[in-house]
Amino acid sequence: MKEIYEIGEIPPLGEVPAKMYAQVIRQERFGEPTKAFQIEQIDTPDIKPDEVLVYVMAAGVNYNNVWAALGIPVDVIGARLKKGEKEAFHIGGSDASGIVWQVGNEVSHLKVGDEVVIHCGIWDRNDPWVKAGKDPMFAPSQLIWGYETNWGSFAQYTKVQAHQCLPKPKHLSWEESAAYMLVGATAYRMLHGWPEHKVQKDDIVLVWGGAGGLGSMAIQIVKAAGGIPVAVISGDDKVDYCKKLGAKGTINRKLFNHWGMLPHWKDNESYNKWLQGARAFGKAIWEAVGEKRSPRIVFEHPGEDTVPTSIFVCDTGGMVVICAGTSGYNATIDLRYHWMRQKRFQGSHFANDDQAKGVNDLVCEGKVDPCLAQTFEFKETGTCHQLMRENKHPSGNMAILVNAKKKGLKNLGESK
Ligand code: NAP
Repeated sequence: MKEIYEIGEIPPLGEVPAKMYAQVIRQERFGEPTKAFQIEQIDTPDIKPDEVLVYVMAAGVNYNNVWAALGIPVDVIGARLKKGEKEAFHIGGSDASGIVWQVGNEVSHLKVGDEVVIHCGIWDRNDPWVKAGKDPMFAPSQLIWGYETNWGSFAQYTKVQAHQCLPKPKHLSWEESAAYMLVGATAYRMLHGWPEHKVQKDDIVLVWGGAGGLGSMAIQIVKAAGGIPVAVISGDDKVDYCKKLGAKGTINRKLFNHWGMLPHWKDNESYNKWLQGARAFGKAIWEAVGEKRSPRIVFEHPGEDTVPTSIFVCDTGGMVVICAGTSGYNATIDLRYHWMRQKRFQGSHFANDDQAKGVNDLVCEGKVDPCLAQTFEFKETGTCHQLMRENKHPSGNMAILVNAKKKGLKNLGESK
Protein backbone atom coordinates (compact mmCIF):
# COMPACT_ATOMS: atom_id res chain seq x y z
CA MET A 1 0.00 0.00 0.00
CA LYS A 2 1.20 3.53 -0.78
CA GLU A 3 1.78 6.00 2.06
CA ILE A 4 -0.44 8.60 0.35
CA TYR A 5 -2.70 8.58 -2.70
CA GLU A 6 -3.31 11.52 -5.00
CA ILE A 7 -6.71 13.26 -4.89
CA GLY A 8 -9.15 11.07 -6.82
CA GLU A 9 -6.74 8.12 -6.94
CA ILE A 10 -8.66 5.31 -5.28
CA PRO A 11 -6.93 2.98 -2.81
CA PRO A 12 -8.23 -0.63 -2.55
CA LEU A 13 -11.58 -0.55 -0.70
CA GLY A 14 -11.00 -0.61 3.04
CA GLU A 15 -7.23 0.00 2.90
CA VAL A 16 -6.29 3.12 4.85
CA PRO A 17 -3.11 4.95 3.81
CA ALA A 18 -0.96 6.50 6.56
CA LYS A 19 -1.32 10.02 5.18
CA MET A 20 -3.93 12.07 3.34
CA TYR A 21 -4.27 15.43 1.65
CA ALA A 22 -6.35 17.97 3.55
CA GLN A 23 -7.31 21.64 3.27
CA VAL A 24 -5.88 22.93 6.52
CA ILE A 25 -6.39 26.15 8.50
CA ARG A 26 -3.71 27.21 11.02
CA GLN A 27 -3.84 30.03 13.59
CA GLU A 28 -0.99 31.94 11.88
CA ARG A 29 -3.07 31.98 8.66
CA PHE A 30 -6.38 33.18 10.19
CA GLY A 31 -7.95 35.74 7.87
CA GLU A 32 -9.42 35.81 4.38
CA PRO A 33 -10.44 32.27 3.33
CA THR A 34 -8.30 32.32 0.15
CA LYS A 35 -5.22 32.61 2.38
CA ALA A 36 -6.39 30.64 5.39
CA PHE A 37 -7.05 27.34 3.56
CA GLN A 38 -3.90 25.54 2.31
CA ILE A 39 -3.43 21.94 1.14
CA GLU A 40 -1.16 19.93 3.43
CA GLN A 41 -0.28 16.27 4.01
CA ILE A 42 -1.69 15.11 7.35
CA ASP A 43 -1.72 11.75 9.16
CA THR A 44 -4.97 9.91 8.44
CA PRO A 45 -6.94 9.89 11.72
CA ASP A 46 -7.57 6.79 13.85
CA ILE A 47 -11.16 5.95 14.71
CA LYS A 48 -12.81 5.05 18.03
CA PRO A 49 -15.12 2.00 18.49
CA ASP A 50 -18.29 4.02 17.74
CA GLU A 51 -16.81 5.86 14.75
CA VAL A 52 -16.32 5.22 11.03
CA LEU A 53 -13.71 6.51 8.59
CA VAL A 54 -15.32 7.80 5.40
CA TYR A 55 -13.54 8.22 2.04
CA VAL A 56 -14.80 11.68 1.09
CA MET A 57 -16.18 11.93 -2.45
CA ALA A 58 -17.54 15.48 -2.14
CA ALA A 59 -17.86 18.10 0.58
CA GLY A 60 -20.46 20.81 1.13
CA VAL A 61 -19.63 24.47 1.72
CA ASN A 62 -21.11 26.29 4.71
CA TYR A 63 -20.72 29.62 6.43
CA ASN A 64 -19.24 28.03 9.56
CA ASN A 65 -15.87 27.47 7.90
CA VAL A 66 -15.79 31.10 6.77
CA TRP A 67 -15.88 31.84 10.50
CA ALA A 68 -13.25 29.14 11.16
CA ALA A 69 -10.93 30.68 8.54
CA LEU A 70 -11.33 34.17 10.01
CA GLY A 71 -10.78 32.92 13.55
CA ILE A 72 -13.88 34.83 14.71
CA PRO A 73 -16.12 34.83 16.68
CA VAL A 74 -14.25 31.79 18.02
CA ASP A 75 -10.70 30.57 17.45
CA VAL A 76 -11.71 26.92 16.97
CA ILE A 77 -8.09 25.69 17.11
CA GLY A 78 -7.31 27.59 20.32
CA ALA A 79 -10.53 26.34 21.91
CA ARG A 80 -9.60 22.70 21.18
CA LEU A 81 -5.98 23.09 22.32
CA LYS A 82 -7.34 24.50 25.61
CA LYS A 83 -9.45 21.35 26.00
CA GLY A 84 -6.29 19.24 25.67
CA GLU A 85 -6.45 18.20 22.00
CA LYS A 86 -3.04 17.93 20.32
CA GLU A 87 -3.56 19.18 16.76
CA ALA A 88 -2.63 22.83 16.16
CA PHE A 89 -4.69 22.90 12.95
CA HIS A 90 -8.27 22.74 11.73
CA ILE A 91 -9.62 20.50 8.99
CA GLY A 92 -13.08 21.94 8.42
CA GLY A 93 -16.04 20.72 6.42
CA SER A 94 -19.44 19.92 7.95
CA ASP A 95 -21.13 18.30 4.96
CA ALA A 96 -20.03 15.30 2.93
CA SER A 97 -20.95 12.39 0.75
CA GLY A 98 -18.64 9.43 0.63
CA ILE A 99 -17.94 5.75 1.13
CA VAL A 100 -17.54 4.01 4.47
CA TRP A 101 -13.88 2.87 4.45
CA GLN A 102 -13.26 1.59 7.98
CA VAL A 103 -15.72 0.70 10.75
CA GLY A 104 -15.19 0.90 14.53
CA ASN A 105 -15.60 -2.42 16.33
CA GLU A 106 -18.84 -1.40 18.07
CA VAL A 107 -20.61 -0.20 14.92
CA SER A 108 -23.22 -2.65 13.69
CA HIS A 109 -25.43 -0.79 11.20
CA LEU A 110 -22.74 0.24 8.68
CA LYS A 111 -20.23 -1.71 6.63
CA VAL A 112 -17.22 -0.91 4.45
CA GLY A 113 -18.46 0.14 1.00
CA ASP A 114 -21.74 1.78 2.15
CA GLU A 115 -22.48 5.03 0.31
CA VAL A 116 -23.48 7.71 2.79
CA VAL A 117 -24.18 11.35 3.44
CA ILE A 118 -23.06 12.77 6.78
CA HIS A 119 -24.84 15.09 9.19
CA CYS A 120 -22.75 17.28 11.44
CA GLY A 121 -24.29 16.72 14.90
CA ILE A 122 -22.03 14.85 17.31
CA TRP A 123 -22.33 14.06 21.00
CA ASP A 124 -20.84 11.70 23.56
CA ARG A 125 -22.95 8.55 23.72
CA ASN A 126 -22.00 8.24 27.43
CA ASP A 127 -23.22 11.75 28.23
CA PRO A 128 -25.94 11.21 30.91
CA TRP A 129 -28.29 13.51 28.96
CA VAL A 130 -27.89 11.41 25.80
CA LYS A 131 -28.11 8.13 27.74
CA ALA A 132 -31.42 9.31 29.23
CA GLY A 133 -32.80 9.45 25.67
CA LYS A 134 -33.28 13.23 25.66
CA ASP A 135 -32.72 15.44 22.59
CA PRO A 136 -28.92 15.25 22.14
CA MET A 137 -28.86 18.77 20.64
CA PHE A 138 -29.34 20.00 24.24
CA ALA A 139 -26.58 17.74 25.62
CA PRO A 140 -23.50 19.36 27.20
CA SER A 141 -21.29 17.19 24.95
CA GLN A 142 -22.97 18.30 21.68
CA LEU A 143 -20.59 19.71 19.02
CA ILE A 144 -20.63 20.48 15.30
CA TRP A 145 -18.37 18.11 13.34
CA GLY A 146 -15.95 19.89 11.00
CA TYR A 147 -16.28 23.19 12.83
CA GLU A 148 -16.05 22.67 16.57
CA THR A 149 -14.30 19.35 15.96
CA ASN A 150 -11.35 18.56 13.74
CA TRP A 151 -11.24 16.00 10.90
CA GLY A 152 -14.06 17.45 8.78
CA SER A 153 -14.75 16.75 5.13
CA PHE A 154 -12.16 18.99 3.43
CA ALA A 155 -9.79 16.03 3.30
CA GLN A 156 -9.50 12.65 1.58
CA TYR A 157 -10.78 10.94 4.74
CA THR A 158 -13.00 12.13 7.54
CA LYS A 159 -13.80 10.45 10.83
CA VAL A 160 -17.36 10.60 12.10
CA GLN A 161 -19.60 8.99 14.69
CA ALA A 162 -21.56 6.19 13.05
CA HIS A 163 -24.96 7.77 13.82
CA GLN A 164 -24.01 10.76 11.62
CA CYS A 165 -24.24 8.60 8.48
CA LEU A 166 -27.44 8.39 6.45
CA PRO A 167 -28.07 6.67 3.12
CA LYS A 168 -26.94 8.65 0.08
CA PRO A 169 -29.94 9.49 -2.15
CA LYS A 170 -29.59 7.15 -5.11
CA HIS A 171 -30.75 9.65 -7.73
CA LEU A 172 -28.16 12.30 -6.82
CA SER A 173 -24.49 12.74 -7.82
CA TRP A 174 -21.80 12.81 -5.14
CA GLU A 175 -21.61 16.59 -5.26
CA GLU A 176 -25.40 17.07 -5.05
CA SER A 177 -25.47 14.66 -2.11
CA ALA A 178 -22.83 16.68 -0.27
CA ALA A 179 -24.63 19.99 -0.64
CA TYR A 180 -27.80 19.96 1.46
CA MET A 181 -27.52 18.21 4.84
CA LEU A 182 -26.26 20.96 7.15
CA VAL A 183 -28.62 23.65 5.91
CA GLY A 184 -31.44 21.18 5.23
CA ALA A 185 -31.43 19.58 8.67
CA THR A 186 -31.06 22.98 10.38
CA ALA A 187 -34.08 24.28 8.46
CA TYR A 188 -36.01 21.07 9.24
CA ARG A 189 -35.52 21.47 13.01
CA MET A 190 -36.46 25.17 12.82
CA LEU A 191 -39.68 24.33 11.00
CA HIS A 192 -40.62 20.96 12.52
CA GLY A 193 -38.77 20.87 15.84
CA TRP A 194 -40.67 23.31 18.05
CA PRO A 195 -44.09 21.93 19.07
CA GLU A 196 -47.01 24.36 18.94
CA HIS A 197 -45.18 25.92 15.99
CA LYS A 198 -44.46 23.01 13.68
CA VAL A 199 -45.20 24.20 10.17
CA GLN A 200 -48.71 23.23 9.12
CA LYS A 201 -50.87 23.36 6.02
CA ASP A 202 -51.65 26.96 4.97
CA ASP A 203 -49.22 28.55 7.46
CA ILE A 204 -47.58 31.68 6.09
CA VAL A 205 -43.81 31.41 6.64
CA LEU A 206 -41.50 34.37 6.04
CA VAL A 207 -38.08 33.09 4.91
CA TRP A 208 -35.13 35.48 5.12
CA GLY A 209 -32.39 34.94 2.50
CA GLY A 210 -34.78 32.79 0.43
CA ALA A 211 -32.17 32.17 -2.26
CA GLY A 212 -29.42 31.28 0.25
CA GLY A 213 -28.42 27.88 1.59
CA LEU A 214 -30.81 27.78 4.55
CA GLY A 215 -33.53 29.73 2.77
CA SER A 216 -33.68 27.50 -0.31
CA MET A 217 -34.14 24.47 1.96
CA ALA A 218 -36.73 26.27 4.12
CA ILE A 219 -38.91 27.23 1.15
CA GLN A 220 -39.07 23.60 0.01
CA ILE A 221 -39.66 22.16 3.50
CA VAL A 222 -42.52 24.62 4.09
CA LYS A 223 -43.99 23.76 0.69
CA ALA A 224 -43.71 20.00 1.37
CA ALA A 225 -45.75 20.54 4.58
CA GLY A 226 -48.44 22.46 2.68
CA GLY A 227 -47.38 25.87 4.03
CA ILE A 228 -47.09 29.14 2.13
CA PRO A 229 -43.50 30.43 1.97
CA VAL A 230 -42.71 34.09 1.27
CA ALA A 231 -39.04 34.73 0.49
CA VAL A 232 -36.98 37.84 1.27
CA ILE A 233 -34.19 38.55 -1.22
CA SER A 234 -31.81 41.39 -2.09
CA GLY A 235 -32.29 41.49 -5.86
CA ASP A 236 -34.98 40.84 -8.43
CA ASP A 237 -32.64 38.37 -10.17
CA LYS A 238 -33.55 35.93 -7.35
CA VAL A 239 -37.35 36.13 -7.80
CA ASP A 240 -37.71 33.27 -10.30
CA TYR A 241 -35.32 31.06 -8.33
CA CYS A 242 -37.40 31.37 -5.14
CA LYS A 243 -40.71 30.97 -6.97
CA LYS A 244 -39.49 27.80 -8.70
CA LEU A 245 -38.65 26.35 -5.29
CA GLY A 246 -42.19 27.07 -4.14
CA ALA A 247 -42.30 30.63 -2.77
CA LYS A 248 -45.73 32.21 -3.14
CA GLY A 249 -44.11 35.63 -3.41
CA THR A 250 -40.87 37.52 -2.78
CA ILE A 251 -39.87 40.81 -1.14
CA ASN A 252 -36.79 42.79 -2.15
CA ARG A 253 -35.24 43.99 1.13
CA LYS A 254 -33.27 46.67 -0.70
CA LEU A 255 -36.51 48.65 -1.11
CA PHE A 256 -36.51 49.29 2.67
CA ASN A 257 -34.01 51.08 4.87
CA HIS A 258 -35.16 50.62 8.46
CA TRP A 259 -32.70 47.77 9.17
CA GLY A 260 -30.47 47.46 12.21
CA MET A 261 -31.05 47.75 15.93
CA LEU A 262 -34.34 49.18 17.10
CA PRO A 263 -34.18 52.90 18.04
CA HIS A 264 -34.92 53.60 21.71
CA TRP A 265 -38.67 53.86 22.36
CA LYS A 266 -38.18 57.29 23.98
CA ASP A 267 -36.59 58.65 20.78
CA ASN A 268 -39.92 59.46 19.09
CA GLU A 269 -38.59 60.67 15.77
CA SER A 270 -36.25 57.74 15.07
CA TYR A 271 -38.72 55.22 16.47
CA ASN A 272 -41.55 56.46 14.26
CA LYS A 273 -39.31 56.32 11.23
CA TRP A 274 -38.47 52.71 12.07
CA LEU A 275 -42.15 51.90 12.64
CA GLN A 276 -43.03 53.26 9.21
CA GLY A 277 -40.44 50.97 7.61
CA ALA A 278 -41.57 47.92 9.58
CA ARG A 279 -45.26 48.58 8.71
CA ALA A 280 -44.40 48.97 5.02
CA PHE A 281 -42.51 45.68 5.14
CA GLY A 282 -45.53 43.99 6.80
CA LYS A 283 -47.71 45.33 4.00
CA ALA A 284 -45.29 43.90 1.43
CA ILE A 285 -45.79 40.46 3.03
CA TRP A 286 -49.59 40.75 2.66
CA GLU A 287 -49.12 41.76 -0.98
CA ALA A 288 -46.84 38.77 -1.59
CA VAL A 289 -49.37 36.42 0.06
CA GLY A 290 -52.31 37.98 -1.79
CA GLU A 291 -54.34 38.49 1.40
CA LYS A 292 -54.00 40.27 4.77
CA ARG A 293 -52.37 37.38 6.66
CA SER A 294 -49.15 37.65 8.66
CA PRO A 295 -46.53 34.91 9.07
CA ARG A 296 -47.16 32.30 11.77
CA ILE A 297 -43.47 31.45 11.50
CA VAL A 298 -40.59 33.78 10.66
CA PHE A 299 -37.46 31.87 9.59
CA GLU A 300 -34.61 34.08 10.90
CA HIS A 301 -30.83 34.04 10.54
CA PRO A 302 -29.61 37.55 9.50
CA GLY A 303 -30.04 38.60 13.17
CA GLU A 304 -29.29 42.15 14.26
CA ASP A 305 -30.42 43.86 11.03
CA THR A 306 -33.75 42.05 10.78
CA VAL A 307 -34.90 40.71 14.17
CA PRO A 308 -36.85 43.86 15.18
CA THR A 309 -38.85 43.61 11.94
CA SER A 310 -39.25 39.83 12.22
CA ILE A 311 -40.77 40.15 15.69
CA PHE A 312 -42.99 43.01 14.56
CA VAL A 313 -44.44 41.28 11.46
CA CYS A 314 -44.88 37.85 13.11
CA ASP A 315 -48.56 37.02 13.65
CA THR A 316 -50.18 37.02 17.10
CA GLY A 317 -49.26 33.72 18.76
CA GLY A 318 -46.61 33.07 16.11
CA MET A 319 -42.90 32.21 16.34
CA VAL A 320 -39.69 33.81 15.15
CA VAL A 321 -37.18 30.96 15.02
CA ILE A 322 -33.51 31.89 14.68
CA CYS A 323 -30.28 29.97 14.11
CA ALA A 324 -27.69 32.68 13.41
CA GLY A 325 -26.77 36.34 13.53
CA THR A 326 -25.00 36.90 10.21
CA SER A 327 -25.36 40.69 10.45
CA GLY A 328 -24.71 40.93 14.21
CA TYR A 329 -25.69 39.49 17.58
CA ASN A 330 -27.71 42.23 19.29
CA ALA A 331 -31.36 41.25 18.94
CA THR A 332 -33.60 44.16 19.90
CA ILE A 333 -37.31 43.72 20.51
CA ASP A 334 -40.15 46.09 21.27
CA LEU A 335 -41.52 44.06 24.16
CA ARG A 336 -44.95 45.69 23.93
CA TYR A 337 -45.68 43.83 20.69
CA HIS A 338 -43.97 40.72 22.00
CA TRP A 339 -46.04 40.16 25.13
CA MET A 340 -49.34 41.68 24.07
CA ARG A 341 -49.38 39.58 20.88
CA GLN A 342 -47.88 36.59 22.73
CA LYS A 343 -45.15 35.84 20.22
CA ARG A 344 -42.32 33.36 20.66
CA PHE A 345 -38.63 34.02 19.93
CA GLN A 346 -37.01 30.60 19.64
CA GLY A 347 -33.31 29.80 19.24
CA SER A 348 -32.51 26.71 17.17
CA HIS A 349 -29.25 24.98 16.33
CA PHE A 350 -28.57 22.25 13.77
CA ALA A 351 -30.59 19.03 14.30
CA ASN A 352 -30.78 15.63 15.97
CA ASP A 353 -30.61 12.25 14.16
CA ASP A 354 -34.40 12.10 13.59
CA GLN A 355 -34.50 15.60 12.11
CA ALA A 356 -31.50 14.88 9.85
CA LYS A 357 -33.33 11.74 8.71
CA GLY A 358 -36.47 13.86 8.22
CA VAL A 359 -34.81 16.07 5.63
CA ASN A 360 -32.87 13.19 4.07
CA ASP A 361 -36.16 11.34 3.51
CA LEU A 362 -37.63 14.43 1.79
CA VAL A 363 -34.55 14.58 -0.47
CA CYS A 364 -34.71 10.83 -1.22
CA GLU A 365 -38.43 11.24 -2.11
CA GLY A 366 -37.55 14.08 -4.49
CA LYS A 367 -39.54 16.64 -2.43
CA VAL A 368 -36.46 18.69 -1.57
CA ASP A 369 -33.81 19.48 -4.17
CA PRO A 370 -30.26 20.01 -2.87
CA CYS A 371 -30.07 23.26 -4.87
CA LEU A 372 -26.48 22.67 -5.90
CA ALA A 373 -25.51 25.80 -7.78
CA GLN A 374 -21.78 25.44 -8.31
CA THR A 375 -19.11 22.79 -7.87
CA PHE A 376 -15.47 23.56 -7.11
CA GLU A 377 -12.20 21.63 -7.31
CA PHE A 378 -10.50 20.58 -4.06
CA LYS A 379 -7.81 23.23 -4.60
CA GLU A 380 -10.55 25.91 -4.74
CA THR A 381 -11.77 25.34 -1.17
CA GLY A 382 -10.58 28.83 -0.15
CA THR A 383 -12.12 30.44 -3.25
CA CYS A 384 -15.66 29.21 -2.61
CA HIS A 385 -15.50 30.24 1.05
CA GLN A 386 -14.25 33.67 -0.03
CA LEU A 387 -17.27 34.04 -2.35
CA MET A 388 -19.53 33.20 0.57
CA ARG A 389 -17.78 35.70 2.85
CA GLU A 390 -18.37 38.43 0.28
CA ASN A 391 -22.02 37.34 -0.36
CA LYS A 392 -20.99 36.84 -4.02
CA HIS A 393 -21.77 33.14 -4.08
CA PRO A 394 -24.53 31.78 -6.33
CA SER A 395 -28.10 31.16 -5.10
CA GLY A 396 -28.47 27.80 -3.36
CA ASN A 397 -25.58 25.60 -2.21
CA MET A 398 -21.99 24.91 -3.25
CA ALA A 399 -19.97 21.70 -3.16
CA ILE A 400 -16.32 20.71 -3.52
CA LEU A 401 -15.16 17.62 -5.39
CA VAL A 402 -12.74 15.86 -3.09
CA ASN A 403 -12.12 12.34 -4.43
CA ALA A 404 -15.06 12.44 -6.87
CA LYS A 405 -14.47 13.27 -10.49
CA LYS A 406 -16.30 15.94 -12.47
CA LYS A 407 -19.80 15.09 -13.75
CA GLY A 408 -19.62 12.86 -16.81
CA LEU A 409 -16.52 10.95 -15.65
CA LYS A 410 -17.00 7.56 -14.04
CA ASN A 411 -16.79 7.61 -10.25
CA LEU A 412 -16.28 4.95 -7.66
CA GLY A 413 -19.57 3.19 -7.00
CA GLU A 414 -21.14 4.26 -10.29
CA SER A 415 -20.36 1.01 -12.09
CA LYS A 416 -22.93 -0.89 -9.98
P1 NAP B 1 -26.09 32.05 2.70
O1 NAP B 1 -26.22 31.00 1.66
O2 NAP B 1 -25.06 33.10 2.55
O3 NAP B 1 -27.53 32.75 2.79
C1 NAP B 1 -27.80 33.78 3.69
C2 NAP B 1 -28.64 34.83 3.00
O4 NAP B 1 -29.02 35.79 3.97
C3 NAP B 1 -27.90 35.60 1.92
O5 NAP B 1 -27.98 34.95 0.69
C4 NAP B 1 -28.61 36.94 1.91
O6 NAP B 1 -29.65 36.88 0.97
C5 NAP B 1 -29.25 37.02 3.31
N1 NAP B 1 -28.63 38.09 4.08
C6 NAP B 1 -27.32 38.34 4.26
N2 NAP B 1 -27.15 39.43 5.02
C7 NAP B 1 -28.40 39.90 5.30
C8 NAP B 1 -28.89 41.01 6.02
N3 NAP B 1 -28.07 41.89 6.61
N4 NAP B 1 -30.22 41.18 6.10
C9 NAP B 1 -31.08 40.31 5.49
N5 NAP B 1 -30.67 39.24 4.80
C10 NAP B 1 -29.34 39.04 4.71
O7 NAP B 1 -25.87 31.44 4.13
P2 NAP B 1 -26.62 30.22 4.84
O8 NAP B 1 -25.87 28.97 4.57
O9 NAP B 1 -28.07 30.27 4.51
O10 NAP B 1 -26.37 30.58 6.37
C11 NAP B 1 -26.90 31.78 6.93
C12 NAP B 1 -26.41 31.94 8.37
O11 NAP B 1 -26.88 30.87 9.15
C13 NAP B 1 -24.88 31.94 8.51
O12 NAP B 1 -24.50 32.88 9.49
C14 NAP B 1 -24.58 30.53 9.00
O13 NAP B 1 -23.38 30.44 9.75
C15 NAP B 1 -25.80 30.25 9.86
N6 NAP B 1 -26.17 28.83 10.03
C16 NAP B 1 -26.40 28.37 11.29
C17 NAP B 1 -26.75 27.05 11.48
C18 NAP B 1 -26.99 26.49 12.86
O14 NAP B 1 -27.19 25.30 13.02
N7 NAP B 1 -26.99 27.29 13.89
C19 NAP B 1 -26.86 26.19 10.38
C20 NAP B 1 -26.67 26.70 9.10
C21 NAP B 1 -26.31 28.03 8.93
P3 NAP B 1 -30.17 38.19 0.19
O15 NAP B 1 -28.94 39.07 0.02
O16 NAP B 1 -30.74 37.69 -1.10
O17 NAP B 1 -31.21 38.82 1.07
